[in-house]
Amino acid sequence: MCIFCKIIQKEIPSSCIYEDDQVMAFLDLSQVTKGHTLVVPKKHYDNVLDCDPETLAHLIQVTQMLAKRITERCQAKGVNILTNCNEAAGQSVMHLHFHIIPRYDENDAIVIQFNESEKQDLDALKNLLQ
Ligand code: 5GP
Ligand code: ZN
Repeated sequence: MCIFCKIIQKEIPSSCIYEDDQVMAFLDLSQVTKGHTLVVPKKHYDNVLDCDPETLAHLIQVTQMLAKRITERCQAKGVNILTNCNEAAGQSVMHLHFHIIPRYDENDAIVIQFNESEKQDLDALKNLLQ
């Protein structure tokens, strides 16, 4: 059983801030910023890519509701909502989770940066992807 399944089963303690029949949300141990929260489905999916659409729809609705609550109550100025899929994308726990990361100012502990990289053939990519 994965570590988040153990948290859901209450075999490992967590600071739970929301729970319903399908979803649980608990504070991330790392607290990248104050209020950093993880929202997880109770059924195990590795990540967004293998999750069934109904569960995902409910998960993102709960995530939105909690992001508003956390931003307001922590008096944050903004919030990042993100999810990593697979190790190459930075996923370290292979149980689907959305991060809610309240933002306080540009100098807080998280940096999300889109760097310039090699030029791409947009027409070829469009043909590949549409
Ligand atoms: P990922 O890197 O997979 O997107 O994020 C995994 C997150 O889970 C990390 O931010 C990490 O701090 C958090 N985490 C890992 N183990 C535990 C745990 O046992 N309890 C809690 N609350 N958070 C955890
Ligand atoms: Zn799991």
